[in-house]
Amino acid sequence: MRRPVIAANWKMNHGPTEARAFMAAFLASYSPRQDRTVAIFPPALSLTTIRDALAARRDVLLGVQNIHGAAKGAFTGENSAPMARDAGATLVLVGQSARRRVFGEPDESTAKKCALALQYSVTPMLCVGERIEQRDRHETEDVVVRQLRAGLPLLSKKAIASVLIAYEPVWAIGTGRTATPADASAVHDVIRRELKSLCASSDAAAEIPILYGGSVTRDNAKSLLAAPGVEGLLVGGASLDAASWSAIACT
Ligand code: PEP
Repeated sequence: MRRPVIAANWKMNHGPTEARAFMAAFLASYSPRQDRTVAIFPPALSLTTIRDALAARRDVLLGVQNIHGAAKGAFTGENSAPMARDAGATLVLVGQSARRRVFGEPDESTAKKCALALQYSVTPMLCVGERIEQRDRHETEDVVVRQLRAGLPLLSKKAIASVLIAYEPVWAIGTGRTATPADASAVHDVIRRELKSLCASSDAAAEIPILYGGSVTRDNAKSLLAAPGVEGLLVGGASLDAASWSAIACT
């Protein structure tokens, strides 16, 4: 198996002071490893704190949780791709379920954000996933395929091969209810198939890491990561405590 990508999404938690303390504890317990890629998506206000904490640790990547669809302008309260890059981020979450559900972001804005991010050397991690009622109606496949097609149309076939995908069933995010490894594998398989049709070649599509997210904990991380087609984890709540996150990062 290729090296997994294990990523923390802190959501709206850990400002600069907490982020500094967290990084001191985490880096003391997590040594660089060649067999995985670890990334942290803090709130934008904590980006430079973490960038500074990582000055001597290039093994841990930094990402921003959201960007605006424009590079600059009169968008009070927003952050842009070039600003995030300047603050040390090389990754960005696009279409995470809170953005879609709580902030009402439509599919079209995920496309703009993916394109703009890449223009500024920030790699998008496009998040897709169905709501519980869609799952109950057996629409999971349709939903994730639609979200993939909607998020990637502004990218060349070559550029699509450089993104990351996170499958995050909405009903599993922050609920304590996790997809079974078999469920995750089945949806990752659908995503992989769709990526093959969107990329220049099957080989290029096979290189795109597909992460699972939704109530991952130190107890279930191993079995989820062992599921066929699951090439990483996107972890919310369980990434907020340095000991728990360190255990998951070492899974
Ligand atoms: C998330 O916010 O992306 C997430 C997966 O959260 P949690 O792990 O808390 O379900």
